[in-house]
Amino acid sequence: MYSRIVLALLLLCAQIAFAAPAIDVTVDESGNKTTGQSEILFDPQASLTVNEAAAKYALGEFTALDTAGSTGLQPGAVWSHFQLHNTSGQALTLDIEYVDHQLIELDAFQAPTSNGGNYTQVASLSLLAPFESRPVAHNRFVFQVTLAPDERREFLVKFSSHQAGFVFPSMRIWAPEKLRQNNNAETAMVMFLFGGIFLMSVVSFVAALATRDRTFFSYSVYALSKIVGWFTILGYTHQFIVKQHYHWSYMTITGAIGIIFGIIFSRIYLQTRQHTPRLDYVLLFMMANAVFMLVCTIFDLNTLAISSITLALLLYPAICIAGIVRFRQGSRDAAVFAVAWSLLVLGMVGQALRDLGLVGHSEFTYYWPAFASFVEMIGILTAMGLKVRRLRVQKDKAESRYMAQLESSKVELEMLVSQRTAELERAKEAAEFEARTDPLTGAHNRRSFLVEAQRCLSLAHRKGQPLSLLMFDIDHFKAINDSFGHSMGDEALRQFSSTVAGSLRDMDVWGRLGGEEFALLLYEDSQGSLLTANRLLETIRSISIPSDAGDLRFTASIGVASLAADEDIETLLNRADNALYQAKNQGRDCVVQDQALATQA
Ligand code: GH3
Ligand code: MG
Ligand code: MG
Repeated sequence: MYSRIVLALLLLCAQIAFAAPAIDVTVDESGNKTTGQSEILFDPQASLTVNEAAAKYALGEFTALDTAGSTGLQPGAVWSHFQLHNTSGQALTLDIEYVDHQLIELDAFQAPTSNGGNYTQVASLSLLAPFESRPVAHNRFVFQVTLAPDERREFLVKFSSHQAGFVFPSMRIWAPEKLRQNNNAETAMVMFLFGGIFLMSVVSFVAALATRDRTFFSYSVYALSKIVGWFTILGYTHQFIVKQHYHWSYMTITGAIGIIFGIIFSRIYLQTRQHTPRLDYVLLFMMANAVFMLVCTIFDLNTLAISSITLALLLYPAICIAGIVRFRQGSRDAAVFAVAWSLLVLGMVGQALRDLGLVGHSEFTYYWPAFASFVEMIGILTAMGLKVRRLRVQKDKAESRYMAQLESSKVELEMLVSQRTAELERAKEAAEFEARTDPLTGAHNRRSFLVEAQRCLSLAHRKGQPLSLLMFDIDHFKAINDSFGHSMGDEALRQFSSTVAGSLRDMDVWGRLGGEEFALLLYEDSQGSLLTANRLLETIRSISIPSDAGDLRFTASIGVASLAADEDIETLLNRADNALYQAKNQGRDCVVQDQALATQA
């Protein structure tokens, strides 16, 4: 009996020595009073009943949390004790909000009102339970307590994370209306961030459709996976989408999917496979690790999953390093990428520090990872914009170089074509000239002379102009060849032709019909042509070609025929030929006019 009293006294002393003061609460609590951190008990087996925990509290085994807010990775459960004192003078209902989203189970108990009796449960919250079962609709755990006027009431709260996990024993005290307002503002802010990321995803998806660039497509998917990841991690998927059969592993699964798409995007964007193959292996390993994390989570291999998550966090800076390496290789937009990704890593580091209990919980440390993620998305979109701009500038430069080249080769080609055309023109003219010219004398050859004769004949008929044909034949030319040699004969032919041609008018047509036989067309009547023929005979007689065998001189005979009405070329030629024949017969070196027309004339 005596010993019992001593024990009771000891317990009382212990309670006085260790008990934290009651928290005074009133009607307008707005979350600035926190509780739960100052009296903590670790329950590694998660085996204590509430009354056993209460007994341990009475024995003074509860201690203040020695970290900045999180218990760190701890197996089992954590118990927290606090006492509220209603100073409002009226009955009071308050919301107690657990500060973090990473908790799987929360059980809240209140002390008996009088001495004796047991703790009674006021709330049992579980991530696995349907969302509707929560006493307060909130993405984090919230339970309600009710206090009579001036009542002091003790509470014990049991936090359990499945196997090993983080626990933030800290809780905030709210007047229900205040909590609702705060939660609305918070949800609006988060939805604004998600909306921004969603917009980036849509813009990128449209850009992917327009450019067929898989960078945009992978970014779009990455952005979506981010939304799904953060939406789930922050508790909104449970609140709005999977209300019934939610499982805590969804947080890890969506997080791992975000990591996988982030790495896929980074590999495509930085082209690590082509440019930094060794770092690319690290990124591939990170992807494999994320897949492993997925598998471990799905098969409930928690310890492996946690090591895999830790490894993933430790390897995250590899992507920043890849960005820096690519920047040093000359890709300027990779620097923006590296900065953006570093922000994300900073967010992750912030989260890790907070989870390990090295940094306290606050709105800032709570939202910093999600906000860093949002800023990262903007940064990466900027980097992609810069990359597109750089590619565009490159393309424009190449295009203008190409255009300049095209222009200059066009000019070159035009020059070549006009040169070639001129050459061909000259060759054609030369060929045509050759075709119509007698090579020895330069006079029209027979064929060309006949063509010209036909043309002149038609013209003369049409205009009613006079036209005469003179047929020449050098006398005894054979003898010239015989006495002076064939080349002197050629020279005689040349001199003969040039002398006659030199005394003609432009419109007259002069041709060599063959051998030493020539023909001349004159726009003259029989009288005029007779005069011309005689004058030409005179000129021919005056030709003298000096040679070793003495001066070469010669004469010619001419037959003249003047064009009759409707006469054709053959008849005219025949008549001139006949006249020439007669001239030869009359003794050569003379002109004979075809009698038919001469008599007419
Ligand atoms: P005729 O007074 O009757 O006209 O006598 P001919 O000797 O001038 O006439 P013929 O028709 O008997 O002889 C023509 C000669 O002209 C025969 C041929 O060797 C010579 N001859 C033809 N063409 C050329 C040529 O291109 N060069 C040279 N050197 N001689 C030629
Ligand atoms: Mg002859
Ligand atoms: Mg002759």
